[in-house]
Amino acid sequence: MSHVFPRQINAPPIKAVASEGCYIIGEDGKHYLDGSGGAAVSCLGHGDVQIIEAIKQQTEALAFAHTGFFTSAPAEELADLLIKHAPAGLDRVYFVSGGSEAVEAAIKLARQFHVENGEPQRRHIIARRQSYHGNTLGALAVGGNQWRRAQFEPILIDVTHISPCYEYVDRKADETAVDYGQRAAQELEDEILRLGPDKVMAFVAEPVVGATMGAVPAVEGYFKRIRNICDTYGVLLILDEVMCGMGRTGHLFACDAEGISPDILCIAKGLGAGYQPIGAMLCSKTIYDTIGSGTGFFQHGHTYLAHPVACAAGLAVVNAILDRKLLKAANTRSAQLFAALNGAFGQNPYIGDIRGRGMFIGLEIVKDRETKTPFEPGLGIAAKVKKAAFEAGLICYPMSGTRDGKTGDHVLLAPAFTFSEQHSSELVEKLEATFFSVLSGTGRSY
Ligand code: PLP
Repeated sequence: MSHVFPRQINAPPIKAVASEGCYIIGEDGKHYLDGSGGAAVSCLGHGDVQIIEAIKQQTEALAFAHTGFFTSAPAEELADLLIKHAPAGLDRVYFVSGGSEAVEAAIKLARQFHVENGEPQRRHIIARRQSYHGNTLGALAVGGNQWRRAQFEPILIDVTHISPCYEYVDRKADETAVDYGQRAAQELEDEILRLGPDKVMAFVAEPVVGATMGAVPAVEGYFKRIRNICDTYGVLLILDEVMCGMGRTGHLFACDAEGISPDILCIAKGLGAGYQPIGAMLCSKTIYDTIGSGTGFFQHGHTYLAHPVACAAGLAVVNAILDRKLLKAANTRSAQLFAALNGAFGQNPYIGDIRGRGMFIGLEIVKDRETKTPFEPGLGIAAKVKKAAFEAGLICYPMSGTRDGKTGDHVLLAPAFTFSEQHSSELVEKLEATFFSVLSGTGRSY
């Protein structure tokens, strides 16, 4: 009898006992191909000796020193390295233990900035529907995914949500991608004006939407317009790269592809690559200096801020991504994987869209490819895909509610940047078997 509180009380997970490269091994000896890095975490694969060695050395040298008293060499070095490669204007790094903590810190920093900048009336946050920003109460309130929010709604802070940039479904037939992006971005300006242009503190978005939509990048020009609107109204732009950052899209920072810089940026997952729990919030010099010349104190903090061992792991991971040229590798492997997926599912009647960027790929499952009609939510397609894939020895990340938080299904893939062509073939084969077993009984000829 286990005393661990699992995610699914009625379906406790099997025990993992080891991991090796792109596989996790169960206690029955079965090898599971890690096609999603868990949830876009394990970007280097498993058992990387360099990262393990960095953790060992740091644990021996200094396992913990509270940030109320000390900084540490790995925290300093990792901050320098991140800022060296970060989008222009970002200057300081606040290390936390995961994605939700990074988003919480970002929300509070945005609010404190406006208070210390003489605009305490700025209190509204705008985010996007179908986004996920974490499960702590502040981050959950910012997220726009209906089923995750539903039962907690009465205790969430008030955040308003505009449409995501979702070309596959929302672009009109007679509209160019760029025109569609401008129309979608215009919703931000309309919402700022509705709430009061001097009352909005921040806009929060994922550059490539991950868990809730399945690797959906924005169309060209969308984020440039968003940046422009934020600048016009003094609204801080918070980009959540917890899932899509740290090389996942083939860029170290996902917003590099958009040619913009946020005021605050959140990273996690790939930063520790699963070797240590670590996240970070990066902020601009302007924000930092405003608080520095004001109270001089960010009213926030956790016990494990900038944990030395977590920072040592993060430092080793980012160095590995850069030194091993894994951004280039991720782009090459991405092209191979996209080709394999398009070859296998490009004409599949149930796969409406294969999208993404770098090693961050989504497949949207539909009932009817021509009309893009999703399956009825009651069929639980994503849950069935997850179960069947796992039985076939594949870890992938399917999710329902792609369209509006209730309907729609997708599968998210986020393999290690070290995924080989054989791994891609194995993934596609297992996914083919999975889709066949789940979808061939749903009515249309397969
Ligand atoms: N933000 C995004 C975009 C995420 O995808 C996630 C997790 O999936 C989070 C925040 C929350 O991160 P964590 O689960 O580490 O708290």
